[in-house]
Amino acid sequence: MKHMKTVLILEHTEEVFDKLTCDVCGAESKWDENWAAKEHEKSITTLQLEEEESFPHGGQSTQTQYHICPSCFKTHLAKWMESHRESKPTVTNSVW
Ligand SMILES: [Zn+2]
Repeated sequence: MKHMKTVLILEHTEEVFDKLTCDVCGAESKWDENWAAKEHEKSITTLQLEEEESFPHGGQSTQTQYHICPSCFKTHLAKWMESHRESKPTVTNSVW
């Protein structure tokens, strides 16, 4: 026999991912953290500082991120980086 009982289910609110916007131009990503225009494409940018302390009794970490669209990455960030001390990016290509 299956016994049923009445329970009170409280509604709650929760922070869930909605959209990603560029911190420079305000553009919105179409696919979560993927800035690509088409579903079969992938274009992800990362600009993050992660600081962490770890001890036997615990630790702490802080992540500081800028979300930047590929267009602003290329036209603003990359040009700024390369104009300061002639910085060059690490570029890795893959083919499959
Ligand atoms: Zn942008």
